[in-house]
Amino acid sequence: ARERSRLPAPGAGLTSDGVPIGLQANILGAGEAGPAFACGAEGIGLFRSEMLFLDRDSAPGEEEQYQAYRQVLEAAAGRPVVLRLLDVGGDKPLPYLPLPPEANPYLGRRGVRWYALHPDLVRTQLRAAARASAHGDLRLMIPMVAEAAEIRAVRALMAEAAEAPLPLGIMVEVPAAALNLEALAREADFLCVGTNDLVQYLFAADRGDARVARASHDWHPATLRVLARIVAQASGRPLSLCGEMAGRPGLLPLLVGLGFRTLSLAPALLPEARRALARLDSARCRDLAERALASEDADAVEALLREGAGQGR
Ligand code: PEP
Ligand code: MG
Repeated sequence: ARERSRLPAPGAGLTSDGVPIGLQANILGAGEAGPAFACGAEGIGLFRSEMLFLDRDSAPGEEEQYQAYRQVLEAAAGRPVVLRLLDVGGDKPLPYLPLPPEANPYLGRRGVRWYALHPDLVRTQLRAAARASAHGDLRLMIPMVAEAAEIRAVRALMAEAAEAPLPLGIMVEVPAAALNLEALAREADFLCVGTNDLVQYLFAADRGDARVARASHDWHPATLRVLARIVAQASGRPLSLCGEMAGRPGLLPLLVGLGFRTLSLAPALLPEARRALARLDSARCRDLAERALASEDADAVEALLREGAGQGR
C-alpha cells in the first residue's frame, strides 16, 4: 500500500525522477471517449474523425457530426480534445465521393490535399466543430500537411464556416513538413507527430505491407534523427506524438530521451505506458537517445535499448 501511495495520480505519466509526461488517447469514434477516460487519459490527443465518414452511403451532416463531437467533449469534462479533420484518400477512399483514379494513392490526394476538391464537406465539419466547441476544449488538427499554404487555406475555410476560430494544429507526418518545421510552426497552434505516415514516407515503404514496412523502422537512427529535429524546431509550440510507436513501452526511453513530453496512444495501452514511464530516469533516457542518434542501424539501437531495459528498477 505504501508503494501505491507513491504512484502518480491515475491520469498522469511521471518518470521516476519526476518529469511529467502527458498521456492522451487516440480514438476512432465518439463511443471510445468514455472508456479512454476510464483508462486514465488526460485528454484526447487524436480523434480520427474520418471513421464517421467511412462505411456509409453519404457524408454525415452537420447535426450528426455536432452530436458526435459534443459527446466526446462531454466525456472529456474540460480536458482537451484534438479533432483531426477529415483524413481520407490514400488507403481510406469515400465510396460516395470517388476520386479520379490514382496510380499511387498514398502519394496522391489524401488528407489536406483532398480539401480543395470538396471544400463544402470541410466547411460542414468546421461548422459542426465550432458548435460543439461550446461544450469543452476543442482543438482542430490538419492531416498530411506539407506546406504552410495548406494551413492558411484551412484557416480561410474556418473563417468562412465559424464565427470564432478554434485552435488549429497540424500533423507532422510528411517528411518535408518535419524538415521545414519552423516555417510551419509559425502558422500552426500546435504540432502532433504522426510516426505511422512519417516512417512510411521516410522509408518509402507502404505501412500496410509487412513485406517492406519493418517495425524496426520506428527506432532506426534515420527516424530518430528526424524526430530529434522535430523537437528542436518546434519553436515553442505544444508538441505531441500520436503514432503507434507511442504505444510500445519498450520505445518510451527513446521518446522521453528525445524530448517528447506528451504522447497519445490507444486507450488500452495507457496503464502500461504509465507503469513503464514510472521506471524511467529522464537523464538516462537522454543519454540513451544521444547514443541511439549516433548509431548506424536499428539493430544497434535495439542493443542499446536491451542494455538499458532494467533502468530504474
Ligand atoms: C500517423 O500517421 O502516425 C497517424 C497517427 O495517423 P493515421 O495512423 O491515422 O494515419
Ligand atoms: Mg497519418
